[in-house]
Amino acid sequence: MTDDLKLLWKDALKIIETGTSFVTYEVWLSSLEPVEITGNKLVMVSPTSMAVNVINNNYLDLIKNALNTINNNIADVAVISASDFSQYLKTRTLPETEIKEKKEEAKGEKTETEELIFNAKYTFDNFVVGTSNQLAHAAAKAVSENPGKSYNPLFIYGGSGLGKTHIMHAIGNQLKNEKPRLKVSYITSERFVNELVEAIRGGKEQSTKQFRARYRSLDVLMIDDIQFIANKMSTQEEFFHTFNDLYHLGKQIIISSDRAPKFLSELEERLRSRFQWGLIVDIQPPEIETRLAILKKKAENERYNVEESVFHLIAERIDSNIREMEGMLSRITFYSSLIGSSKVTYDIAVEALKDFLDDKKEVLTIDKIIEVVCGYYSVTKGDIISKKKNKEIVEPRQVCMYIITELLSVPLAAIGSAFGGRDHTTVMHARDKISELIQTNNNLATAIKDIKAMIQKK
Ligand code: ADP
Ligand code: MG
Repeated sequence: MTDDLKLLWKDALKIIETGTSFVTYEVWLSSLEPVEITGNKLVMVSPTSMAVNVINNNYLDLIKNALNTINNNIADVAVISASDFSQYLKTRTLPETEIKEKKEEAKGEKTETEELIFNAKYTFDNFVVGTSNQLAHAAAKAVSENPGKSYNPLFIYGGSGLGKTHIMHAIGNQLKNEKPRLKVSYITSERFVNELVEAIRGGKEQSTKQFRARYRSLDVLMIDDIQFIANKMSTQEEFFHTFNDLYHLGKQIIISSDRAPKFLSELEERLRSRFQWGLIVDIQPPEIETRLAILKKKAENERYNVEESVFHLIAERIDSNIREMEGMLSRITFYSSLIGSSKVTYDIAVEALKDFLDDKKEVLTIDKIIEVVCGYYSVTKGDIISKKKNKEIVEPRQVCMYIITELLSVPLAAIGSAFGGRDHTTVMHARDKISELIQTNNNLATAIKDIKAMIQKK
């Protein structure tokens, strides 16, 4: 494999990785090896014929799009198994020299705009909005409707796997559909650095000029993960000038980062202060409702048939990284399909996550919460689920119900039935009453905080 091919594929893999689950990526895609480009087709070898089938049936478009993003001369992909490879070499019609020529052609013809195909899965439609991300979502929407005019620059920050890249692609997709004449570019700051280094290395003036011209002709520039240029002075310098030019021309700039500008300590002050000119919004880890909604949407999009309880199992265990949550769902559905089940049930999910769950905390259940609350108030479980109405029992019972609704996302009816067959309205009443009480009753609020802490430690 030549270095060019290696590089091309390495870049493509990065895009592919963002567009797929980690199971798919690990199991099927990461082991592909590119062998040659013939015409506009990249030929790749996969270790097994099973993998070839899976890839041909499911992932060819993903691979094609990724390759095409990097080199728009590549329009097609052929995947063959390692065992068919020698046969392929014998029957292939193109003579060696012609392949070489085609290859030269393919890599020489980089068009200046390098049109990017945004990941079709990362749209606003597929983005679930909750309190944790609504500001970022609203700002991104405003910017895609009025680029350069609403918030400029738009700076989005938040932890890994919380949807920054998704939002940027969503802006790109929307602009591509609704304002197709605009020149929109998305680039990771890693790639920005690499391109700049290449430009500087490749014969000074001419290529750095081209580099500049390319960026300065854009209408919308998105730079993802800006923290990567924080300690690279010459890149910052270049970016600073690009930023100024675009800004003064009224062109939209969108930046993402894993932390707020003020914590990008290695970033030059003049850049940092420019980020303040626009709007800075954060994305927080999503609350449980949003996590559930994201999982459901994902399952719906992928046409997975998943039992409701499985979503809860995942959403309760992972709360700060959506990518991990999706990875877990993929792992479960993958396992489910391997054992030939048409529906992903709770039991299958637990089995699929066995290794994972083993070294984490036990799954939190209604029973465990009841146990802790009983311990705290020195009452018995029998009392709590009984029909007794004295104050010493009613308060712990209601606190218990309240905490369950807070920590678990099980249906109210299920909670009711765990409390000696009570109605869901009883649970609702308990929940609302306690949440109202803790607004004014500090003792109760503290008690609940302590109980929750005890439960988390379990
Ligand atoms: P980041 O760039 O912040 O590290 P990504 O944008 O790559 O995170 O998001 C990780 C994964 O989570 C992606 O598959 C993305 O589609 C998904 N995701 C993140 N936020 C949401 C959301 N609000 N709704 C639906 N999917 C989301
Ligand atoms: Mg990202």
